[in-house]
Amino acid sequence: MSEPEQAKARRVRDVVVDAYIKLICPEADHQFKRGMEKYVAALEQAAEDIGSFLKDHRSHRDVWLKVTRHRQDQCSACHAEWEPFTEDGVTYCANCGAEVEADDEQADGVR
Ligand SMILES: [Zn+2]
Repeated sequence: MSEPEQAKARRVRDVVVDAYIKLICPEADHQFKRGMEKYVAALEQAAEDIGSFLKDHRSHRDVWLKVTRHRQDQCSACHAEWEPFTEDGVTYCANCGAEVEADDEQADGVR
């Protein structure tokens, strides 16, 4: 083989790839039973109230903000979401094509 050897890949577990603030609004949760449009409208009202609160501090509505981490398993070679595939008995990363290290193949398999 004259081609340079490509780095092998392994699964990197539970990587935080994003984080966001989630609005927790009991009133909106109550509206959820009445349908998605009512729920979204209640969230929009809560968001508007938060804007008003920040502007003039008059709102007394119960609203909490919670930071949520978005986690995923990733390929160590390309950092894309872990998605292995097997061809002719060899497992590769579906995104970058790097061959998956034998330990990962045996430990995790391909679903
Ligand atoms: Zn990859």
